[in-house]
Amino acid sequence: MSKFLAHEYQSLVPYTPGEQPKDRTYVKLNTNESPFPPSPRVLQVLNRQKIEGLNLYSDPTLSELRGAIAKALDVKAENVFCANGSDDVLAFCIMGFCGRGGSLACPDVSYSFYPVFADLFGVQLTTVPLRENYTVCPEDYSHIGKNIVIANPNAPTGLCLPPEDIERIAASNPDHVVIIDEAYVDFAPWSCVPLTEKYPNLIVTQTFSKSRSLAGLRVGYAIAHPALIDDLNRLRCSFNPYNVNALSIAAASAAIADADYYADCVRAIINEREKTKVRLADMRFAMLDSQTNFVFAKHPRMDARTLYQGLRDRGVLVRHFAAPRIDGWLRISIGNQQQMDAFFAALEELL
Ligand code: PMP
Repeated sequence: MSKFLAHEYQSLVPYTPGEQPKDRTYVKLNTNESPFPPSPRVLQVLNRQKIEGLNLYSDPTLSELRGAIAKALDVKAENVFCANGSDDVLAFCIMGFCGRGGSLACPDVSYSFYPVFADLFGVQLTTVPLRENYTVCPEDYSHIGKNIVIANPNAPTGLCLPPEDIERIAASNPDHVVIIDEAYVDFAPWSCVPLTEKYPNLIVTQTFSKSRSLAGLRVGYAIAHPALIDDLNRLRCSFNPYNVNALSIAAASAAIADADYYADCVRAIINEREKTKVRLADMRFAMLDSQTNFVFAKHPRMDARTLYQGLRDRGVLVRHFAAPRIDGWLRISIGNQQQMDAFFAALEELL
């Protein structure tokens, strides 16, 4: 660390992204990416003309992308905020609505970026323990009197609360924002986007990184009341009005319009997930009932660290979190059939 880093950032512990090793070819089941390529329409729009147009700045109002997202989600463009991945969206939400010295509550087992954002923005974080069975207890957030962020489905558990529970949380905290991180929602049975019309304190964030096979593009968005969207844009335009680049705008707008292509991809991933659950259960793994594109599993005999390392030695990457309550578990992203066969072959050898 240099002597120049401002005092308030010296104790920051950055988020640890899933590893992307280059020493050999791995079956990559560690960062919940899609095993499928993006829609062919993405290839069409990232053409010579688009590239030649890069001498100009991207549209700071993001009107094309906001319009495409609004159309796909059946909301208005004024309800849509876009940024450089949903991590960026979450950062703006936590910075803007919690503020320095402000409050934020989230589950103790959840996306490990929330505490990092809280730390970065000087927000007082309260972690609310999940129940013993790893479900979020909605009553714990009722009238909590703090801003809230909940991943729904949650990560890394994969479990999902029904919209009625989210509605009660939003209704009982009218003076605070409730951020619902729906990064994995397309693999789940429902979304809370329709509730944003009714609750002016509810923000739903989504991403192009998972179901839309565009993790490398870095586009995420929030759906909320226009007043909240205006607030987020005030912050964005005080920081980097061109935060979504022109290629990303074109690619993401084309992708979200190709609903049929992505519905097929999601169907295939859910199908593979359900097969994976059965195969893991046959090998005596305990599992949570995932509603995402990953499963969270625990073996009764072999500890998770040994399993993780043994799989890695055999060319298969999964995610292990050395964190309280979950260090006995592995998070396994759902790949295509071939990748899952390779995973099970390595696992069988190991066990
Ligand atoms: N929320 C959750 C729960 C996630 O797991 C992730 C991906 N690591 C994100 C948000 C961020 O995704 P992205 O920035 O790629 O949109």
